[in-house]
Amino acid sequence: MEIQVRSGDTLEYYSQLFSIPLVLIVDSNSDRNVEQLRVGQTVHIPGYTISSHIIRHGDTISGLAKSYQLEQDALLLVNQSTDLSIGEKLLIPSRITQNIVDPKVHYDFTQLNLDIRALLEYYPFLQKRQIGNSVLNNPLYELQIGKGKRKIQINASFHANEWITTCILMQFLNDYLRALVDDQEISGVQALSLYDQSQLFAIPMVNPDGVDLVLNGPPKDLEKQLITLNNGLTDFSGWKANIRGVDLNKQFPANWEFEKKRKPTKPGPRDFLGLTPISEPETKAMAQSALREGFDRLLSLHTQGKEIYWGYEGMEPAESAALAQDFAAASGYEAVQYVDSFVGYKDWFIQEFRRPGFTIELGFGQNPLPISQFDEIYTDMQPLLVRALK
Ligand SMILES: [Zn+2]
Repeated sequence: MEIQVRSGDTLEYYSQLFSIPLVLIVDSNSDRNVEQLRVGQTVHIPGYTISSHIIRHGDTISGLAKSYQLEQDALLLVNQSTDLSIGEKLLIPSRITQNIVDPKVHYDFTQLNLDIRALLEYYPFLQKRQIGNSVLNNPLYELQIGKGKRKIQINASFHANEWITTCILMQFLNDYLRALVDDQEISGVQALSLYDQSQLFAIPMVNPDGVDLVLNGPPKDLEKQLITLNNGLTDFSGWKANIRGVDLNKQFPANWEFEKKRKPTKPGPRDFLGLTPISEPETKAMAQSALREGFDRLLSLHTQGKEIYWGYEGMEPAESAALAQDFAAASGYEAVQYVDSFVGYKDWFIQEFRRPGFTIELGFGQNPLPISQFDEIYTDMQPLLVRALK
């Protein structure tokens, strides 16, 4: 919510009045000069929205404050005047006590956009950056939380029919944001300590065109071509690639020549490397994101197998093994050092930076995993993701 500064107000006072950590109020207003508050200036208060109350017989400010569990001054602050005539409307600051993200709805790119917009409105210390575009010109979003030194990238939905990974990551972001404003723990760790130690860069949908293809079917103008690429099938549930049939997680120059020889030679639903490394707009954006930020750790969320892949050709640093064991202990998943697969984003990241990179295979079964697995997967993953930020 937004409030207007009055004479004598300070951010410290707002922090106390609304029980919101000061750092989050400061960071919610980083785009405006709040070092020197001016009377009448607008300030964002994260974790609140405005609702209203129609005045009834017998209402008083102290009584209303009590019934809405607010300080009286919180009511005075958001209302220009407090006319308590019956039928008048009083604005009420309402603390957000539930998640905005519902991960069990039809989670296509449109839904992702709606949720990102809502999270930015309610938690303005969350930052959004567009890191590129998909083939169909959908924006690729990176959401950033925290101000610590350690930078961690977590990405989801590289593969189209693994869209449940977006649901998991969005639920995690919402839980983390809510734990922050409430100054609570998440998986046993104080959320604010994670905020101080780390910077999370979440890329919730690397392959929006592919996810929409799996969930909504092909766009009309591409229907014929896509059915051909899909070996004549109209069922796209087995589709992993981007919209032009390139497998985005087989696009990176890490053992390219070797992998190319044993994979499909033309575009299709999965496994085609493309004609050259990093030829797709989505993989270009992902490579640039890593090169720009130089992440300390990187986690790619995939399905399925309940496994954590953490090595690449012996180039992984020593700390990768300990982190993988820690992640395995947190999630119940199995840590696996090497697997007979190359040219992935995490392979390239390890090769390029010699820093810990992980591919995490969420859940168990046949892709696309049903949303009925969501709760079980999330229960395993939340503690792992928290460890990744620690
Ligand atoms: Zn995958």
